[in-house]
Amino acid sequence: MKTLQNLVGGIWEDSRGDAFHDVVNPATEEVVARCPSGSPEDVRLAVDAAVRAQPAWAALTVAERVERLSRWADTIAAHADELAELECREMGKPVALGRAFIGGAAMGFKAAVAEALEYAFEETVDGTGTTIVRTPLGVAAVIVPWNFPVPMTLGALGPLLAAGNTVVLKPSERSPMSAVRLLELMDLPPGVVNLVLGDSRAGAPLVADERVGLVHFTGSVESGRKVGERTGALLRRSILELGGKDPVVVDAGVDPVATAAAVAFGAFANSGQICTSMERVYVHHDVAEPFIEALVEAAGTYALGDGHDARTVLGPLVDRRQRDIVVRHVADAVSRGATVRAGGVVPEGKGFFYPATVLTGVDESMLVMTEETFGPIAPVAVVSSFEEGLERASASRFGLAATVYTADPAHMAAARRIPAGVVWVNQWQGGGPERLYEPAGDSGMGATGSRAAYDAATRPTSIHTAPAA
Ligand code: NAD
Repeated sequence: MKTLQNLVGGIWEDSRGDAFHDVVNPATEEVVARCPSGSPEDVRLAVDAAVRAQPAWAALTVAERVERLSRWADTIAAHADELAELECREMGKPVALGRAFIGGAAMGFKAAVAEALEYAFEETVDGTGTTIVRTPLGVAAVIVPWNFPVPMTLGALGPLLAAGNTVVLKPSERSPMSAVRLLELMDLPPGVVNLVLGDSRAGAPLVADERVGLVHFTGSVESGRKVGERTGALLRRSILELGGKDPVVVDAGVDPVATAAAVAFGAFANSGQICTSMERVYVHHDVAEPFIEALVEAAGTYALGDGHDARTVLGPLVDRRQRDIVVRHVADAVSRGATVRAGGVVPEGKGFFYPATVLTGVDESMLVMTEETFGPIAPVAVVSSFEEGLERASASRFGLAATVYTADPAHMAAARRIPAGVVWVNQWQGGGPERLYEPAGDSGMGATGSRAAYDAATRPTSIHTAPAA
């Protein structure tokens, strides 16, 4: 059984810690790798390497960094199949879905990196004698979850590296294999990106290292809060991209069948393990009946199976712990009066599978309408007006993203009242690389995307020069 290694200053090394865990294929329950669980010494060595590499990396021209990073993006795109296969083995995502997301993420990385060529790292304010210089923060920590291992990593890394920072990357302990391969494919100077494997035993000391100038953390609210407490105490910058309970409002006057197909995809894709999965559905009573009927029918088409099988639409959940959460949320809803219209039963046999599930008769007394479920569940509440849907959609402690389907221009305009980092109208997951966002409420903090990512990756200094006497 392969024991995975850290990448420190360009050299693959064994962990200095003595704790290890198994990485388990969630479709078969077979152990596929042995992974170090992390240690403070591993983190210290990786940050040392990143500190050493940073001045030379920052001394390259922006164009040189962009060129090297773009080449890496091309290599990643050429290996999308292999990386998707690793993601499938470590966390269950169907290979076809993984391949599409990795290909898209490689192109997104390239576009984000190219923005460095337009970014004002130095600007002179006309007629004032003032120059503003933006310098990299030094070493950045990138901590990512398991649900989109390669895309989440690429999304965070691009602007940080293009701006001249070096990085210590800590992938999820549940999906380390694709991260190892991603860095094997990298052709950057030693120490520019370092890899520390492990769980919070690697993550916590990384966040606590005073030499880390920025922590870009993507993960749960619970862990994000701990990260924010630590970076706050150290007076270091953090970007926290956390969990959600995203609503979707379906207005009267939409095509109920087409909208149900879109909502099925939003709720069930990647087995509901997307931070912006649709987790609460508010449908206008005028279209509720045909919409629910079509949603139930759509759920039946989401074929469960091993993600290596081309017929599979829904892979397993990442592990038993995640499936237990889903089972608990559905049981809680049923005990409070919800009706299971599709799915809702754990299949027999190996693997942490759970079927596409539609619940009706739900309300906000239920966990499935208030806490992040992260499973293929569409809980549907019928509302008597668009206004009621908008109000209930907005009444959440989370604020990651929201979606509204409506044909009414006034309602399209009203969609922006939902407090969230992203609001989609009549689409889901749309938006180009120029998008800027900051999660609302408990879903995180720190604006990112496009130029905000470069603002976050650098620190401005204003230099005011008067003429010599
Ligand atoms: P998690 O919080 O358990 O782990 C995320 C990462 O943080 C892992 O690498 C983990 O090892 C590390 N970690 C855990 N405790 C830590 C600590 N104390 N200090 C430092 N690092 C620590 O989350 P998860 O279960 O891996 O991922 C699922 C969560 O991620 C969901 O809540 C989902 O909504 C969220 N997510 C958010 C986004 C977004 O962009 N907002 C994207 C994807 C996933």
